[in-house]
Amino acid sequence: MHRILQRQIEHFFGKDKNIPEDWKEFLDAVSQTYAHFDEDRELLDRSLSLSSEEFFENSRKLEKAKQEVEQIVEERTLQLAEEKSRLLASVENLSLGFAMFDLQGKVLNINQAFKNFLAINTLENLSELNSLLGKDSVLQKLFDKCLNSKQPVNLENFSLGKKYFTFFLTPVILANTNQVIGVVMIIEDFTKEQEIDKAKSEFIILASHQLRTPLTIIKWNSEFLTKQVTENPALFNYIKNIKAIEEGTSRMAALIQALLNVTRVEIGKLAISPELISPEEVSRLSMEELRAQAEIKDLAVKEFYEQGLPQMKADPNLLKIILQNLLTNAVKYTPEKGMISLGVGVDKENILNKPAVVFTVSDTGYGIPFQDQTRIFTKLFRSENIKLVGASGTGLGLYLTKAIVESCGGKIWFKSPVHMSHASSAQGSSFFVALPVDGVPKKEGVTFLPENNSREVLYS
Ligand code: ADP
Repeated sequence: MHRILQRQIEHFFGKDKNIPEDWKEFLDAVSQTYAHFDEDRELLDRSLSLSSEEFFENSRKLEKAKQEVEQIVEERTLQLAEEKSRLLASVENLSLGFAMFDLQGKVLNINQAFKNFLAINTLENLSELNSLLGKDSVLQKLFDKCLNSKQPVNLENFSLGKKYFTFFLTPVILANTNQVIGVVMIIEDFTKEQEIDKAKSEFIILASHQLRTPLTIIKWNSEFLTKQVTENPALFNYIKNIKAIEEGTSRMAALIQALLNVTRVEIGKLAISPELISPEEVSRLSMEELRAQAEIKDLAVKEFYEQGLPQMKADPNLLKIILQNLLTNAVKYTPEKGMISLGVGVDKENILNKPAVVFTVSDTGYGIPFQDQTRIFTKLFRSENIKLVGASGTGLGLYLTKAIVESCGGKIWFKSPVHMSHASSAQGSSFFVALPVDGVPKKEGVTFLPENNSREVLYS
């Protein structure tokens, strides 16, 4: 019998009194229940004492971990502080201008070069910088674009007085949250490069002009000699030599003209005079002027004009130069009895993201070797396969054509399925030019004239 139950029975029935027989079974059950209670309490006590031990052990571990973390944080803070000072020292000594802004445009950090470039002692915020540059909102717009797009943005060739700068803006993004917290602005001073470029271009223009005089004299004299020789049969043998002089002069004249044009385009002196034109009319004219050259090589000439072509705003002279360059190449780089074609149609692929007309000049010629295809629009580049067939050229035509097309708001590209440098594997080329129907605004500068006219200008 459980001791507590025993005591209670004794208390209730008296010590010596016998317990009624029919209670015994019931009291045994109660006694067992008491015993279960005891077991449970013992278990509970044990687990309680155990968990408090664990608790103390864990707190000790926690305290130790806390101390370790604190030490790591302290060391890391020190490292960060060192890194920050190193970074600031390098930023301070950068030859590029450096400034860091927060989201509101407040300057958080700025180096000496930045202040030197803009001739300032301090800079508080972006609006101060905007008014300092005198071109309100240009930088603000750029700043907003950088923040919104989360992408770096540039502002090139920004002129301030006699200086030229490029601004590079980069968003500062928190790596884990992808949240923008500010903008870093770098300024590069391009004044010296600009001056060198300008001097170089001016030299080329001057030298080219100077070269025209002796060329004109050679041209006049060879014309005079041709006349003398044709009038005097005894001198017929010399006609070949005089022709060679004339050809050489023409090639040099073309090269000088191309150099002059390239230089003018590079220094942004290309004049654009858009007017409402019929793309078909200008194309037909350009093709007509080239027909004689194509006939010499017995080339088939084809033209395709889409029905209902729109009138477009474009500079007819520039369009003619573009087409002339492409057509001349097609004739030059297609062997005898081949075929060249000119097609004009409406842009169906929305290449310029606005209505455009696409001009296509195709040929069945030597094509452009695969390995040269990325360099075809670079200055002075000529493919090996073309050099092999001995076609003359300057390597400036496509570079100039691309520059003109882009100045007119257009795009130029080509397809040529040749995969080997060997001319015999040729499958021709197609050059495409897309120009916007609404054109670009008029621009002052040097007027470029198509081939025939420019020759006259050169020799006059
Ligand atoms: P140029 O014709 O005076 O060499 P371009 O700049 O007009 O200079 O052309 C550059 C080069 O591109 C050419 O030398 C030639 O290798 C290649 N090229 C241009 N057009 C064609 C064409 N229609 N077919 C094959 N190759 C071409």
